[in-house]
Amino acid sequence: MSTRGPHDGHDPFAEARMEFLLTMRRRGIQDIRVLRALELVPREVFVEPEQEAHAYEDQALPIECGQTISQPYVVAAMTEALLLEPNHKVLEIGTGSGYQAAVLSHLTHEVVTVERYRTLAETAERRFAELGLDNITVIVGDGTLGAPDHAPFDRIIVTAAAPEIPQRLLEQLREGGIMVVPVGPVTGVQSLLRIRKRPKGEGIEQETLMQVRFVPLVAGKASAL
Ligand code: SAH
Repeated sequence: MSTRGPHDGHDPFAEARMEFLLTMRRRGIQDIRVLRALELVPREVFVEPEQEAHAYEDQALPIECGQTISQPYVVAAMTEALLLEPNHKVLEIGTGSGYQAAVLSHLTHEVVTVERYRTLAETAERRFAELGLDNITVIVGDGTLGAPDHAPFDRIIVTAAAPEIPQRLLEQLREGGIMVVPVGPVTGVQSLLRIRKRPKGEGIEQETLMQVRFVPLVAGKASAL
């Protein structure tokens, strides 16, 4: 039995998780389904063991391969911005710890997530299995190419900073679909965009939701790890 996460009827993180949900509400997350999904995912499972005590603080934390698990408020806001329905097929670029994908998995029936580091992808996959999340497919590869074998997607979420709107991903978005992506200088602050693909090839609509700071979206699969 795992010693990390809810077990034995005693959940050492229960109080912190409750506080965390209140913080998310206070910060403006209103969609009750999103709050419920956050409640269902034990974030302590997705952080490094030495960071467990900080799992429910509203901050990004370092993970393996020099990457980060995103700040929970940003995860929540991006999830809310997707306007997910239970029948949606969702593509995430940048699996990282797997936390965002786990949150998505409670809100929709199919999640495909792409990560360029094999180590991260395998760790995330193990976590999904431990938590019984069986609707997530993890792909090791270059997310700038999307996941053409699984396309089209109703929703796409990019959790790494793109220098511009990723056209290959837009092509894999269904008409009427939504993509949430941080766009801007990869070493600075990016604008979190919500993009809607209009039907009949009539282009896109875009709105800026907030300013964010993500690790860069790097083309190509990581060679070493
Ligand atoms: N969503 C993650 C946080 C992502 S951090 C979570 O919930 O923990 C951004 C991740 O994007 C990193 O793991 C990084 O390796 C990955 N990444 C960057 N460029 C990529 C690319 N081209 N394809 C796939 N993954 C990429």
